[in-house]
Amino acid sequence: MKTRTIVAGNWKMHTDATEAGNLMEALVGWSAADQGDVQMIVAPPYPFLAAAVEQVKKAADGPSTIIIAAQNCHQEESGAFTGEVSVPMLRSMGVGACIVGHSERREYYGETDEVVGRKVSLLLKHGLQPIYCCGERREEREEGRYRDVVSTQIHTALGALSPEEVAKVVVAYEPVWAIGTGLTATPEQAQEVHAFIRAELQALSGGMAAGIPILYGGSCKPENAEGIFAESDINGGLIGGAALVAEKFIELMRIAQRIKTAA
Ligand code: PEP
Repeated sequence: MKTRTIVAGNWKMHTDATEAGNLMEALVGWSAADQGDVQMIVAPPYPFLAAAVEQVKKAADGPSTIIIAAQNCHQEESGAFTGEVSVPMLRSMGVGACIVGHSERREYYGETDEVVGRKVSLLLKHGLQPIYCCGERREEREEGRYRDVVSTQIHTALGALSPEEVAKVVVAYEPVWAIGTGLTATPEQAQEVHAFIRAELQALSGGMAAGIPILYGGSCKPENAEGIFAESDINGGLIGGAALVAEKFIELMRIAQRIKTAA
């Protein structure tokens, strides 16, 4: 089974309406002509999602297959949760995926794997692609506990799902010490954890882990992506800083295309 290769960009709380429009225009223009087999996913801030969906639909050079993702969603379907955004809202506007469990949400908003698991379940119920983030903090790596940490995260968040549901999740391994720090896991460090994650997913997915895309995230950029994407259990990247510059993000797509098509 050939696992999908995905390059996903998380814009976080960056860009304004004009910058977001320009960045999307560059990505849509490139992808319509050149995207190949690699799936591009783009996660702009909430206020720019509708415009991004429209830009993808109206791609001038032909059909663009970019999937627009949200960076978060609420774990309830609706209700009195001022300021929150629900999965049905996202679906109704053509958003196709959602990042959940990002380490910044865990750290600044106290998100637990129990809550993240409910978000994953709701996203699947409504047909959106969950991109589930996990990864250890610096001290947990230094103390050699990173496997335990990642295992607990995955089992807590995904353990209540059916095997068929688990098989539909995209996982992003994002060591917290590598996010936005300029420090990157070496390809060997990343591959070791990706293989471990795949083994953990094997039982949870009823043996379908080979088909689950596991993305690497953490200061991934064109300068270091070749080695990372070349690893067998790494199926692409979740990109922060480098996703804000169209040329860099497109270069990451090209590297993924080259390496994974040759594999
Ligand atoms: C991220 O926030 O998911 C991320 C990987 O960020 P960066 O690429 O900037 O480290």
